[in-house]
Amino acid sequence: MKTISVTINGKKLQVPENYTIIEAAKEIGIDIPALCYDPNLDKVGACRICVVEVEGARNLMAACTTPITEGMVISTESKNAVETRKEILRLLLDNHPNDCLVCNKAGECKLQEYAFKYDVKFRQHDGERRQAKVDNTNPYIHRDDSKCVLCGKCVRTCNKVEDRKVLSFGERGFETHIVADYDNLMADSSCVSCARCLAVCPVGALMDARTMGKARVWETTTEDVKCTVCEYGCDFELLKKNGKVYAVRAKSPVEGRPLCLKGRLSVDLTYNEEVQVPYVKKDGKFVEATWEEALGLGKLLSKLGK
Ligand code: SF4
Ligand code: SF4
Ligand code: SF4
Repeated sequence: MKTISVTINGKKLQVPENYTIIEAAKEIGIDIPALCYDPNLDKVGACRICVVEVEGARNLMAACTTPITEGMVISTESKNAVETRKEILRLLLDNHPNDCLVCNKAGECKLQEYAFKYDVKFRQHDGERRQAKVDNTNPYIHRDDSKCVLCGKCVRTCNKVEDRKVLSFGERGFETHIVADYDNLMADSSCVSCARCLAVCPVGALMDARTMGKARVWETTTEDVKCTVCEYGCDFELLKKNGKVYAVRAKSPVEGRPLCLKGRLSVDLTYNEEVQVPYVKKDGKFVEATWEEALGLGKLLSKLGK
C-alpha cells in the first residue's frame, strides 16, 4: 500500500495512506485520548476528546475520523487541543457520580484515566445532573446509567451482530440515554447476555455483574483463554486474585466473533474456582438453573444415560 509522510508532535513518519490521525499517532506510541473510538467499530467522532491541532486548519480535528494527508503536521497536545479536551472532561464529570472509590471500573476506566492525565476534577460547574439509574435486573449485567458518557460503543457493538440490535439512543439533549429495546429493564429486554457491550464500555456504566465486588483491578491478574464451544473461538480472560480464578470476563468482540452466554458459562465452569450458579430465562424471567440446563446439555446427557 502507498504510504504518505506526516509529522506528529515534531516526529516525521511514513504511514499507509488510508490511516486516520489516531492510527498514525499509534504507530509512534502516541495514544490520543478517545472515549467513542474503537478500531473494530464504525468511527463516529462523537466524544471529541480526540481533537488535535492540524497546521493550516481553522478548527481542531477529530483524530479518529480525520484521514491523514501528505505533509500533514499534527500536534496532539497543543494548548488549544488540551484545553478543549479538559472542558469536555469537565462537562462529563459535572454529570457523573463521584464514585471512583467504590466503582469496580476504577483502575481501568478511561474517564478516570483522562481526568487524572489532564488534572480535571469532579463537578467544576453547577447545574442539573442526571439521576442515578442502576439496573440490576439481569444477573449477568450491572448497568449504571449515571456513569454513561454516551460514547455509543455499546450500541454499535450490539448492532454489529445480526438479530441483536437491542441497544440504541433514547430521548434527546440532556435526557439522552442508552435504552434497551423500548427503554425496558435489561431483564425485560431482548438482550441475550452476550456481554459484547460490557467488553467495550470505557467506563463503569456496563459491567459484568459476576465480577462486581470481588477484587480491585490492581489486585487482579489476567490470563487469556479461548472458548471451545463453537468454531468462532471467542476470547475470554480469567480474572485471578492471589493466583485463584474468581471470574471470567468477555474480551473485545473482534473479527465478528459473537460472544455468547453459553460459551462464557462453559469457560466459567471450566476455570472458575468460585463459580456462581447460572441463570437462564424462562417465560421471560431469569431463574436459577442447573449447569446442564444452562449449557443446554440436558438431552445429550439423558441420551448418554447420565
Ligand atoms: S466510571 Fe470511572 S470515573 Fe466513573 S466512578 Fe467509575 S471509575 Fe470513577
Ligand atoms: S449483552 Fe449482548 S445482546 Fe445484550 S445489550 Fe449487550 S451486546 Fe446487546
Ligand atoms: S453504556 Fe458505556 S459503552 Fe454504552 S454509551 Fe454509555 S459509556 Fe458508552
